[in-house]
Amino acid sequence: MSSYRYSLAFAQERDREDPLRKFQSRFHFPKVNGEAAIYFCGNSLGLQPKAVREHLDRDLESWASKAVDGHFEGDAPWFSVHERSKAALAEIVGAKKHEVVAMGSLTTNLHALLVSFYQPNGKRNKILTEAGAFPSDMYALESQVKYHGLDPDEAIVEVGPRPGEHTIRTEDILQAISKHQDELACVMMAGLQYYTGQVFDMKAIASAAHAVGATVGFDLAHAAGNAPLHLHDWGVDFAAWCSYKYLNSGPGNVAGIFVHERHGNNPALNRFAGWWGHDEKVRFKMEKGFVPMYGADGWQNSNGNVLGMAAHQASLDIFQEAGMVHLRKKSVQLTGFLAFLIREISGESGVLEVITPNAEAERGCQLSLLIHKGGKAVFDEFYQNGIVGDWRNPNVIRIAPTPLYNSFEDVFRFAKILEQSLSKFA
Ligand SMILES: *Cc1c(COP(=O)(O)O)cnc(C)c1O
Repeated sequence: MSSYRYSLAFAQERDREDPLRKFQSRFHFPKVNGEAAIYFCGNSLGLQPKAVREHLDRDLESWASKAVDGHFEGDAPWFSVHERSKAALAEIVGAKKHEVVAMGSLTTNLHALLVSFYQPNGKRNKILTEAGAFPSDMYALESQVKYHGLDPDEAIVEVGPRPGEHTIRTEDILQAISKHQDELACVMMAGLQYYTGQVFDMKAIASAAHAVGATVGFDLAHAAGNAPLHLHDWGVDFAAWCSYKYLNSGPGNVAGIFVHERHGNNPALNRFAGWWGHDEKVRFKMEKGFVPMYGADGWQNSNGNVLGMAAHQASLDIFQEAGMVHLRKKSVQLTGFLAFLIREISGESGVLEVITPNAEAERGCQLSLLIHKGGKAVFDEFYQNGIVGDWRNPNVIRIAPTPLYNSFEDVFRFAKILEQSLSKFA
């Protein structure tokens, strides 16, 4: 029996009991038709924390008043700007501080990490990924494979859903890893699939990949700040994510990487180096001979984007205050309520179907609705009623209630609008 009820009073009661309720007012909300929207699009671009300005102002002030001396002077000198975010990022992805660093941008970082962790050798030259991956990841893999003189059609192994199914079975991923055991160099896939919202069993995938002698990495664009992650304990070799989705750090802002500590000083790995990855004690000697910093820091290329990092930190402070464990607890409830209401309302209508797995461990906050009738008009109807979700071709609406700035009442109001739309499209 479900403990949820389709009633406003129920939703409001849950909001009153919600210990994270206060965080909603820390964000700016966009307007639709002149009214504050119900924002369910944190999977694409997280909302702006109000504290962003204050954080930016501090570094703008340093730049204005200290200029070049801002690198080494003041409360938060830019020389070590990449240190600011480590504690929060380590908590978010389940890592040690020296295993993570904020740097670069997601796709660029994937390339940098693949240079190190995808080193095809003779017949062990394949890379395994999920079918229907985010396009940037497909292009990154294709071009990496070609860079090594290999044919993407042969070197990239894709695992997809079985016919008639929407999500990928863990057993099929593990089976594919074992089938290609002598040829697999690397497994690189999403931690949380952007289209279906499925969370993969990263722990099982990591151990299966290691068992056959392959490295393993995850793109956590949709998982960071959303799903529970224990990268260190799972033994994952590398990971990368962006900060502008659930991490609310602003469009295109600085991304982040994880490199397991066992590779912290591993000279067997190739890398494309830059001065900011060079031992900081001797960095300004400006001499030949790259000596990497220990840990993830050794993958940095350039000096940190200070203004971007300032906005990033405004959001990470909120994550630290709220705590990932509490956020996840609320998220499970909030998305559970959404799933319950969608089942109650759309049950027999045939208009839509939730393709995100129903099991708690196999999803984050997002539900993907496959639209069978009405197509994009269903999405437009939501939008006209103040719901910001997003539409993904060919026929999916993604709705992502986030525990930081969405309420149970938001989810209830969405359900009312869904009910009204269904009467038009059923
Ligand atoms: C959002 C997203 C990207 C975007 O890459 P950028 O380099 O930040 O533009 C890449 N891969 C996945 C899986 C994503 O979800």
